[in-house]
Amino acid sequence: MRGTALVSGVAGFLGSHLAERLLGEGYRVIGIDNFVTGRRENLRTLQRSPAFTLLRGDLARPLALPRANAIFHLACPASPPQYLRIPIATLEVNAFGTAQLLAHAKKCGARMLLTSTSEVYGDPEVHPQPETYWGHVNPNGIRSCYDEGKRFAEALAMAWHRERDVSVRIARIFNTYGPRMAPDDGRVVSNFLVAGWKGEPLRVQGTGKQTRSFCYVHDMVEGLVRLFHAEEVDGPVNLGNPDTELTILELANQVRKLTGERSEIVFDTRGEDDPERRRPDISKAKKLLGWSPATPFPKGLALTADYFRELVEARSA
Ligand code: UDP
Repeated sequence: MRGTALVSGVAGFLGSHLAERLLGEGYRVIGIDNFVTGRRENLRTLQRSPAFTLLRGDLARPLALPRANAIFHLACPASPPQYLRIPIATLEVNAFGTAQLLAHAKKCGARMLLTSTSEVYGDPEVHPQPETYWGHVNPNGIRSCYDEGKRFAEALAMAWHRERDVSVRIARIFNTYGPRMAPDDGRVVSNFLVAGWKGEPLRVQGTGKQTRSFCYVHDMVEGLVRLFHAEEVDGPVNLGNPDTELTILELANQVRKLTGERSEIVFDTRGEDDPERRRPDISKAKKLLGWSPATPFPKGLALTADYFRELVEARSA
């Protein structure tokens, strides 16, 4: 037994995969979720394990937290349509939620990993984005609840580290995809795959020339675990796949082919402050963690497509 890990956002896409991995490593896992964006079905495998406990609660309010020696803070809506719907809760979980977990980490002598985001770079003027880039963020625009929420959470984690000696790790996560993404989450990979299997239009927002770099979920979990265990990490570390930078139109074409070419591609309005290009510079993760993504995009996309096909078929049955 390696001890007890607290995982906030355990019912989310990434949280549930990470919690399974931690159980596999011998941790007792206590998962926290308020189910605002998390889904009960993501917990099915976890709940079969006697080493898993669910604590239902909102981290933005005071919670009685059990003792732990490892804390993974993933709780936060991460898809633009979700955080745009609940901007106050998004800011609150990043501010009060992060503060509560850092204070708890201090009390328990635990290490804490904060999941931050490539959104801290905003609409970047530097490409690809290294951790040393300070970003280009609209501080009060519609996406600021997420961008600035995560920037504040990073600042808070570093302050607790510097002033109160809490051991913190900060992962800046770039677009991640894979089984268990919510079908109605609103992100591009899930939207396209669901529409593709239904034979409905793939809605490209804007010209489709904007890019994202997509990382398969198992690679991301591997990166998070390595980062948590690594010694001598200073400041945030980018985790993402630099080899899969695609335009959204390229992605639409790939999904269309994979799902039987029944969907047409249509163009829609683009969201405000939507970043134009995004690709991680992962030199720091490679050097410090010996990590780089191992799943080629066609393989990851096929696995994700299988998941969504089953989901769509089950819902129409
Ligand atoms: N997007 C799109 N169609 C969709 C959903 C998203 O064209 O159905 C675009 C969106 O405008 C953005 C990109 O895909 O440029 C990635 O969006 P997503 O919400 O997946 O992630 P994020 O913007 O947080 O990287």
